[in-house]
Amino acid sequence: MDRLVCTKCNEKFSLDEKVWQCKCEGLLDIDFKSPFPVDKIKGRKLTMWRYKEAIPLLDDRNIISFDEGFTPLTDVAFNGKSVLVKQDHLFPTGSYKDRGASVLVSKVRELGVRKVVEDSSGNAGCAIAAYCAKAKIDCEIYVPEDTSAGKLAQIQFYGAKLKKIPGSREDTAHAVLKAAEEYYYASHSWNPFFFHGTKTFAFEVCEQLGWKSPDTVILPVGNGTLLLGAYFGFNELLGAGIIDKIPRIIAIQSVNCAPLYRVFKENLEEIPEIDKKSVLAEGIAIAKPIRGKQIIEAVKKSNGDFIAVDDWEIKESLKDICKKGFYIEPTAASTTAGINNYVRRSNPDETIVSLFTGHGLKTTEKMVKILNE
Ligand SMILES: *Cc1c(COP(=O)(O)O)cnc(C)c1O
Ligand SMILES: [Zn+2]
Repeated sequence: MDRLVCTKCNEKFSLDEKVWQCKCEGLLDIDFKSPFPVDKIKGRKLTMWRYKEAIPLLDDRNIISFDEGFTPLTDVAFNGKSVLVKQDHLFPTGSYKDRGASVLVSKVRELGVRKVVEDSSGNAGCAIAAYCAKAKIDCEIYVPEDTSAGKLAQIQFYGAKLKKIPGSREDTAHAVLKAAEEYYYASHSWNPFFFHGTKTFAFEVCEQLGWKSPDTVILPVGNGTLLLGAYFGFNELLGAGIIDKIPRIIAIQSVNCAPLYRVFKENLEEIPEIDKKSVLAEGIAIAKPIRGKQIIEAVKKSNGDFIAVDDWEIKESLKDICKKGFYIEPTAASTTAGINNYVRRSNPDETIVSLFTGHGLKTTEKMVKILNE
């Protein structure tokens, strides 16, 4: 039977309970068997909801969607090597976070929740705000005071209430937990339904490759919303007998905030204290990722690796990608910088998949600053 399961104490909850965390404060995952009726899927609209049987929603009538997903998988040359890049910067709100928000807000509607709270350094807040606007659900987004002005405007234009919290990203997370005692927490890191949206990245990639798994995927990691979602997705396809292997996961962090890179490379037991400097890749600057252990385990089990990129590499890669005619934000360029690094040692016949995570138009101030440097 499909259920929410605590990763710490193994307590189980039904899928129609309004819980985002176990009573023991453990993280919840969803124990869910995903069917893939391939012939039916092929006949449907080209959106992420073509895999609806594999998404843990009880009633299709609750789906909140802008017909998003099934983004182009485009061949892009990196140092002469061919990499297949999902153009996830083309989502309705300008980042792949819409995958998670569409499923999570659909679930919120299914639960009959009227108001949610969420905290974000930008893109997740934009995505939750947009889908709540469509669903007519009240939404309060907690952000650190210094979040990009463009993202703050976007959140407010969707009609969400903005709560600016002084101090660090962690202070914002603390403030929202207080609010979450009263309202449903539509968190992109705690709430397992978000990951059952981001997993559609894996479904689309495999379908676009003719229902085959790539050899390698290169993905960014802050909270790991895409990395873990993709890992769940590939595992579900493997479990259903659709693909015959999990791709190697190459996880990209920014040198200035690389707690999981350090855990992996130095074999640490715990996430180290990070003295976070100002980080160009604001979207992946997470000092204490709550799903850190799961992320490390996913990368290890996939026989993958971690790469850390510095601000200079990110800027060079950003300029290089834009010269090719794609407009992405600096955080997205941390992933492309990671691709540049990885292809130096890839095999000639390796199928490598990655993505553009966010649109450049979201961070105009930062783009202007880099241009003028
Ligand atoms: C959210 C996001 C990421 C990845 O961050 P996670 O914290 O691992 O989920 C990467 N790029 C952009 C543009 C993002 O918005
Ligand atoms: Zn528990």
